Amino acid sequence: MYPDVQLFIDGQWRASRDGRTIDVVNPATGETLGTVAHAGIADLDDALAAAERGFATWRATPAYERYKIMQKAANLLRERIDTVAKIMTQEQGKPLAEARTEVMSAADIIDWLAEEGRRSYGRLVPSRNPLVEQKVIKEPVGPVAAFTPWNFPINQVVRKLSSALAAGCSIIIKAPEETPASPAELIRAFADAGVPAGVIALVYGSPAEISSYLIPHPVIRKITFTGSTPVGKQLAALAGQHMKRATMELGGHAPALVFDDADIDLAARTLAASKFRNAGQVCVSPTRILVQRGVFDAFVEKFVGLTREVKVGNGLESTTTMGPVANARRIPALTALVKNAVDAGATLHTGGQAIDGPGYFFAPTVLSGLTTEMHIMSDEPFGPVALLVPFDTVEEAVKESNRVPFGLASYAFTTSMKTAQILSNGIEAGMLSINHLGIGLPEVPFGGVKDSGYGSEGGTEAIEAYLNTKLVTQMNL
Ligand code: NAD
Repeated sequence: MYPDVQLFIDGQWRASRDGRTIDVVNPATGETLGTVAHAGIADLDDALAAAERGFATWRATPAYERYKIMQKAANLLRERIDTVAKIMTQEQGKPLAEARTEVMSAADIIDWLAEEGRRSYGRLVPSRNPLVEQKVIKEPVGPVAAFTPWNFPINQVVRKLSSALAAGCSIIIKAPEETPASPAELIRAFADAGVPAGVIALVYGSPAEISSYLIPHPVIRKITFTGSTPVGKQLAALAGQHMKRATMELGGHAPALVFDDADIDLAARTLAASKFRNAGQVCVSPTRILVQRGVFDAFVEKFVGLTREVKVGNGLESTTTMGPVANARRIPALTALVKNAVDAGATLHTGGQAIDGPGYFFAPTVLSGLTTEMHIMSDEPFGPVALLVPFDTVEEAVKESNRVPFGLASYAFTTSMKTAQILSNGIEAGMLSINHLGIGLPEVPFGGVKDSGYGSEGGTEAIEAYLNTKLVTQMNL
């Protein structure tokens, strides 16, 4: 059963005022699953008025009460995992096991941020006069507008939502029209847990219309966006024009460096699993796999072998390890990137094209023989394509890692502490994971540099982005 998805405004699930809807398609079959309500300006006005009232209520709610409600939402989500994960696989395509992991990790993120909200400490600054007390306090920034994409329908919402709620903010979420029902289930867990009316709004519609209305609106005090770099730059510019705080989690083109002293088998297995997770539609997906020349051929053989073992199919089938890409437009985008590389002389080891039949399936693909002029070496493929590139020295590997304008995730496999130290100093990225995949846990920062954006969606930094710092200095007369 796939639900028709409604808006959530001022504590009510409802249709849009003008009754418009958008069809939702199952990417594994190409069939229409149901509909999602399309909000218009009148609905946004309702959400804004409610968010203003909701903020007044929520900021006055003690952090301990907020924490208890959030924990209840996390537990409700855990209880509902079977239904929610199935809905996500139907609308997004990822294998059911990955959808279940996403739901469970969302619950962990809520728990961690709920706890962290109780520790939004201020401080006392020693004063120059014994009668003066200098107090630094943290206050919620105000109503937030959040824009989230379709690759992790719940995870992309839950980081923003939990940080905002833990800090005491209200939030209007524009969730993805292509995968609307699973984020709606996340919001339902919060509503059922007792979050007061107005604190959370959930809308869908025309992304550009909604962002261009909400970002300049005086009620909104902060924006947060996850998606592509070109859209992020537009929204950040609009936020800047209206002096709104912004967090931008944008594209990546992650380098993964494999040195000849590494455990090559571990590196190949870890990177193949990570590359084909969610059909490669992951901003931190390892894309340029740079391998030291002495182990390059052995690595290629192992990696291509693992790629051929990937079982592509409908995510609801238990044998599937990779589902379809989430929407039709990824297929021509991926086909064009691979063709551009192959036409310019790249070697295609496996895959390289869409798989015939209904649904949007693209074969797991491995390319080598690449040059930096090929588009795929700089444009984020956002699909199941791995690029294998040899290198000789650590300096050369660092230079290639930093060549592109992105700087989100990076990975390395080495047993040399010296190499690890050179990388930790030299790689321009928000995250570097060495000898394992350690990115994305609630307690560690998550974010990028350069064209990958700014701000963090994990660790203590996640809440800081939703807090203002206020100084109160008082002469005790
Ligand atoms: P896109 O640039 O059209 O959209 C990306 C996301 O931004 C979508 O969720 C979309 O609804 C939203 N969006 C688009 N225009 C908007 C606007 N004016 N205001 C507010 N939101 C807006 O790209 P796409 O075809 O959906 O996805 C492909 C590219 O997006 C990928 O190549 C990848 O770089 C990027 N992407 C990144 C992430 C991530 O996790 N960082 C997630 C999804 C997509």
